[in-house]
Amino acid sequence: MERDPFVVIGGDAAGLSAASKFRRETDRDVIVFEKGRWISYAHCGTPYFVEGSVERLTDLLSLSPADAEERGIDLRRGHEVVSVDPDDRSVTVRADGERFEQPYAELLVATGASAASGPFDPALDGVFSLHGLDDAAAIDAYLAPPDDYDRDRLGDGPVDVERVDHNAALAPPDRAAIVGGGYVGVEMAEALSARGVDVHLYQRTDHVLTTFGAAVGERVESHLAERGVAVHTDAEVQELVGDDRVEALRVDGDERPVDMAILGVGIEPNTALLDGTGVDRGPSGAIRTDEYGRTTLPAVYAAGDVATARHAVTGEERWVPLGLTANRAGRAIGSTVAGDPTPVGDVAGTAVVKAFDLECGRVGLVDPDEAREEGFDPVSETITAGSRSGYYPGGDETTVTLLADRTSGRVLGGAIVGRDRAAIRIDTLATAIEADLAVDELERLDLAYAPPFSPVWDPILVAAKVVNGRLDA
Ligand SMILES: Cc1cc2nc3c(=O)[nH]c(=O)nc-3n(C[C@H](O)[C@H](O)[C@H](O)COP(=O)(O)OP(=O)(O)OC[C@H]3O[C@@H](n4cnc5c(N)ncnc54)[C@H](O)[C@@H]3O)c2cc1C
Repeated sequence: MERDPFVVIGGDAAGLSAASKFRRETDRDVIVFEKGRWISYAHCGTPYFVEGSVERLTDLLSLSPADAEERGIDLRRGHEVVSVDPDDRSVTVRADGERFEQPYAELLVATGASAASGPFDPALDGVFSLHGLDDAAAIDAYLAPPDDYDRDRLGDGPVDVERVDHNAALAPPDRAAIVGGGYVGVEMAEALSARGVDVHLYQRTDHVLTTFGAAVGERVESHLAERGVAVHTDAEVQELVGDDRVEALRVDGDERPVDMAILGVGIEPNTALLDGTGVDRGPSGAIRTDEYGRTTLPAVYAAGDVATARHAVTGEERWVPLGLTANRAGRAIGSTVAGDPTPVGDVAGTAVVKAFDLECGRVGLVDPDEAREEGFDPVSETITAGSRSGYYPGGDETTVTLLADRTSGRVLGGAIVGRDRAAIRIDTLATAIEADLAVDELERLDLAYAPPFSPVWDPILVAAKVVNGRLDA
């Protein structure tokens, strides 16, 4: 008798990476249940669609349903998995108003996350989160004057037409509030400015991009201000006000008029389908996984934004919902289930973001207090160095924060900001962290030098020199 299939829940980064790899390695059946109509889409590109630098919504698609079928994947769109029975090894699926049971030999939960709306009413017209292509299409339609809306930008995909039509019929906004200064908030500040909207960014702590550290946050705030974005730090939005459409927001007792709000107040892992199974959870309620992506339920794996992973610096369980983590873990689990056990890899929280002309990166532990809480004795320095030889045109000041442990010398993390290819330099630090390099070893790395690309001493090497000097002191 044919073995039950490998069942995957979720048809995006983690789920389809797993299914594709599995089918490359074996002839066994794999079924992917996706509750929506879109598959294999790039969340990460949605701010750039809204901005206008990505021409069509469908440019953000990678694998088509036909491609998936060609790979031998049994893809079922419009199929929501509502529960899992780990004793029976089956899932309950809802599709077209019906329910059915699907047995599995192995199960991958790759259900991602959903945008949180905090205390705000997301049903008001003009209030949006950005989590998926339908949100991007709705925001784009809302921004356009009704008689100037370019429907061709949607391309030929399964877009939520009713939602688009509703938003396209509304008068375009003059002033938008972005609630939350994380990376999506910063990217959307740039996108909405490009669409001619007066943008106000609200962040309840003292700096935007908190996980990138203060040196990055300060430079981003002044650059956003230079580019016309009003940045309000230490400003907590309490309420969005309006009957049908958002009209104002309440901040620290003040009412400020707006006709659009983007909520960037965080995401939550989609775990409801595992309620009642007894599966272990980790930080933020994400599904606990081991080094092979196995959950605490037999034959059940989890990957991507729904799952935890091991942190490369602390060795502790963390929830770091990012794109490469999802793709990489999915692919590894596809191999493991096909019979070739493959670790999903650690996460270092490596992240990059662009704010107009500024590029920012971060990796590992950036906050000295957090490093102390993790049991390290951090030495932290922030330096500024040129991005190219001083005599060569096009360079910019690049600011690097670097943390190392005084006891072991180990590189713990860092952040970088600058205009001239700063972000990608964070990969040097990510590699140092993965290789467990000490800061003196980082200082001795043979990094590339030629005037158009870097000064003799790359800014990362300058930071390593300075931190290493402090360790010896
Ligand atoms: C605006 C934005 C910008 C981003 N930019 C970056 C970036 O620049 N760099 C970066 O590294 N990361 C970025 N990310 C994060 C990155 O997109 C995610 O980490 C990645 O998409 C996670 O992949 P996933 O497969 O785990 O989840 P998802 O991509 O969310 O896919 C999960 C899928 O599961 C489906 N699903 C959920 N529940 C069920 C169910 N019960 N039954 C069936 N199907 C279900 C969903 O419909 C969805 O299609 C960004 C995210 C957003 C929202």
